[in-house]
Amino acid sequence: MNELSASSRKRYDVVIVGGAVIGSSVACFLGNNPDFDGSILVVEKDPTYEFSSTAHTNSCMRQQFSAEINIRISKFVADYVKNLRHYLGDDPRVLDLAFHSYGYMYLADNDAFADNLRAAQKIQQACGAGTQFMTPDDIAREYPFYNLDGIIGGNHNLIDEGYFDGGTLFDWYKRSAREKGAEYVTNEVVAMTRNAAGTRVESVTLLSGDVITCGQVVNASGPCAVLTSRMAGIEIPVEPRKRYTFVFAAETLLDRDLPLTIDPSGVHVRSDGAYYLAGCPPDDDHAVDYDDFEQDHSIWESKV
Ligand SMILES: Cc1cc2nc3c(=O)[nH]c(=O)nc-3n(C[C@H](O)[C@H](O)[C@H](O)COP(=O)(O)OP(=O)(O)OC[C@H]3O[C@@H](n4cnc5c(N)ncnc54)[C@H](O)[C@@H]3O)c2cc1C
Repeated sequence: MNELSASSRKRYDVVIVGGAVIGSSVACFLGNNPDFDGSILVVEKDPTYEFSSTAHTNSCMRQQFSAEINIRISKFVADYVKNLRHYLGDDPRVLDLAFHSYGYMYLADNDAFADNLRAAQKIQQACGAGTQFMTPDDIAREYPFYNLDGIIGGNHNLIDEGYFDGGTLFDWYKRSAREKGAEYVTNEVVAMTRNAAGTRVESVTLLSGDVITCGQVVNASGPCAVLTSRMAGIEIPVEPRKRYTFVFAAETLLDRDLPLTIDPSGVHVRSDGAYYLAGCPPDDDHAVDYDDFEQDHSIWESKV
């Protein structure tokens, strides 16, 4: 149990529920926006972040989406990650973030999925992404180690797609947000009240009993987001699902990076420094309890 801390004031322009990567990025972007001069409170119930998604991320980014807005967001993210120092006011303390652009490789084993990949590639290309549709021969030429039995094609993009150092980015979000005046407290939002018209949240109640009035509330509570929104009487379609990650060593390393390869089975695998990293959802992919972080190790043998 974390020791609760109190905020220095009883009113903030913006109260952010959850101080992991999304909550801290909102605080950082607001703090660095010259048009914003309001006060920011970030309420985080567990500053160790042990059970946050942020602490478990595989830290990969891609531009292979089928909706234009997602591709454009990802292009901005790539630019942001590569130019973090500039985005944080040319702060010389900000070092270049590690970024390995080995790309995602989506493999298709049937015509319908290959057609989807071709259609997505056209949308991505129109948005300026570097995705290429590859035949099995193209893939074999670039990556001779794949077993391509049953594979009829794949989409791959080597530009601004792959692994980046998300941990350091998260650290800078928090540091910059604090330096620009955002206040972080260790506490839990347990209730909210709406204004008389019911159009906005006007205060949040913390586990400590403190009531904080606010101009705006940002719900950045990850898989718990629906529990948070229910405090304001709003139902949103967010539910926790299990995702498993396995890191393993190989007796013989491949002679080049293994792209983040998404096999038609749903298993993905990629290079992870001197190791490899694989992951997948369970076959029975249902919503789980909010505090269920049990890993099913048998999936390594039975599926991966
Ligand atoms: C195994 C795995 C691999 C992933 N790989 C990738 C990847 O390669 N690329 C990618 O882009 N994404 C990946 N993701 C997804 C990514 O990690 C999440 O989208 C991201 O971390 C979500 O951040 P968040 O801040 O919204 O939520 P979280 O990190 O879950 O943080 C929510 C925070 O809210 C706090 N909180 C909750 N309720 C309250 C409350 N009432 N009061 C106060 N605090 C509260 C929690 O303590 C927590 O710290 C992966 C996720 C997992 C689990």
